[in-house]
Amino acid sequence: MVVVGGGFAGYNAVKALARTVGDSAEVILVSPTNYFLYLPLLPEVASGVVEPRRISVSLADTLPRGVAHAQGEVDDVDLDARTVRWMDPEGRHHTTGYDRLVLAVGSVHKLMPIPGLSRYAHGFRGIPEALYLRDHLIRQIDLAAGADDPEERRARCTFVVVGAGYTGTEVAAQGVLFTRDLARSRGLAADEVRWLLVTRGEVLSGLDPHLGRTADRVLRDRGVEVRTGETVEEVTEDGVRLRSGEQVPTRTLAWCVGVRPDPLIEGVGLELAEGRLVVDRTLQVPGHPDVFACGDASAVPDPGRPGKYTAMTAQHAERQGKLAGRNVAASLRGGRCRPYQHRDLGFVVDLGGTDAAANPLHLRLAGLPAKTVARGYHLLSMPGNRLRTAADWLLDAVLPRQSTQLGLVRSVSVPLDSSSPEVPHHPQMAFPPERASGDVGR
Ligand SMILES: Cc1cc2nc3c(=O)[nH]c(=O)nc-3n(C[C@H](O)[C@H](O)[C@H](O)COP(=O)(O)OP(=O)(O)OC[C@H]3O[C@@H](n4cnc5c(N)ncnc54)[C@H](O)[C@@H]3O)c2cc1C
Repeated sequence: MVVVGGGFAGYNAVKALARTVGDSAEVILVSPTNYFLYLPLLPEVASGVVEPRRISVSLADTLPRGVAHAQGEVDDVDLDARTVRWMDPEGRHHTTGYDRLVLAVGSVHKLMPIPGLSRYAHGFRGIPEALYLRDHLIRQIDLAAGADDPEERRARCTFVVVGAGYTGTEVAAQGVLFTRDLARSRGLAADEVRWLLVTRGEVLSGLDPHLGRTADRVLRDRGVEVRTGETVEEVTEDGVRLRSGEQVPTRTLAWCVGVRPDPLIEGVGLELAEGRLVVDRTLQVPGHPDVFACGDASAVPDPGRPGKYTAMTAQHAERQGKLAGRNVAASLRGGRCRPYQHRDLGFVVDLGGTDAAANPLHLRLAGLPAKTVARGYHLLSMPGNRLRTAADWLLDAVLPRQSTQLGLVRSVSVPLDSSSPEVPHHPQMAFPPERASGDVGR
């Protein structure tokens, strides 16, 4: 059994599969990192609340014994020969055969044909990008504090986030608190720090309107300029130009406009819908009973919204992963594959400080009650490192945040146009393999 991708879907697929088949089958997980990344807490890494290893849960320590981890990135799937080819971190290729294949490769940044975007903007999907952003925010404030030119200081203290889904909203909400504290500690006035959240639609559109309204209010109360119905038209070294014509001098553009399936999916040669791999309700690829797919990369019919596919969320990916694991095991034993079903348990959006928005079991919460629910939910959902994460939260409540720049991840290591945002890029190294990153502009 080969599972490709160790995120919410793949990690849970491997766990469910290994528990069901025990020693009777060989289970191999191929993924470029040796950890499962708990993405919902990534904004807390960028704003210095938790350390990156807290949300990177070791595969070796948490997967059932007997699961083999092949560290590498798949760059070819041969459905006729039933093999996957993958490259390890030292640039060597390997080929592994399979009886059953689960594709759970997730998604990458959605790009748009905006001049300067790929060159000057950075995305937010992996540890390298979160570390880069944390250092970058600190660096901008440090350089602003030392700048004699008021124009330069203003530009360095201005931060633009594009996209107001959960990623952009949380990055802006956490970022404004972090940078204001930094500014004060460097002798700058907190109101010199300016954050803009630029979005075509409303804040958190597509989720329960209570979440969007709460987040919008908290952001505005903190002084974040929420620009709805707005887009970016050009990005340069010195700033961004908005559709309204406004020129915003800045050195920071966080691109959080959404995601598209990992480009590996395009190359597999199977039917796609909205760029995602078409599967039936049992997560099986039609016409290929030995191939399953789940999570962001797959177009899973949503039982609650006929004619639509499930949203790209961790909740869906995790549950689909578990089901894919069980269905693979059932298919091996001649059992019946079950269809995907889910019940919406609600959503949490952590807005930093003592604020959050949540609707657990459709109960609408804001402020401290929502924050408590959000943190409780994250602790329960994380497959490991809970105590360490809680310890970081406790320390953050009583101590000022650390504001050292380590400078380990530089801008060239985290290109926006990447098929592998989970690993830093080194132009001279073969890993991660360069793959076509798909159509720009979809
Ligand atoms: C910052 C951020 C915050 C989020 N917050 C929330 C939230 O609060 N709630 C929520 O429901 N959702 C949230 N999401 C969305 C959620 O994280 C995704 O929907 C979820 O991760 C999808 O799971 P997945 O397994 O499909 O993909 P991922 O979790 O992205 O995992 C994909 C895996 O595939 C691996 N991979 C990719 N390509 C290859 C390859 N070629 N070969 C081998 N391995 C490969 C990757 O390394 C990774 O391990 C957030 C996303 C982000 C970026």
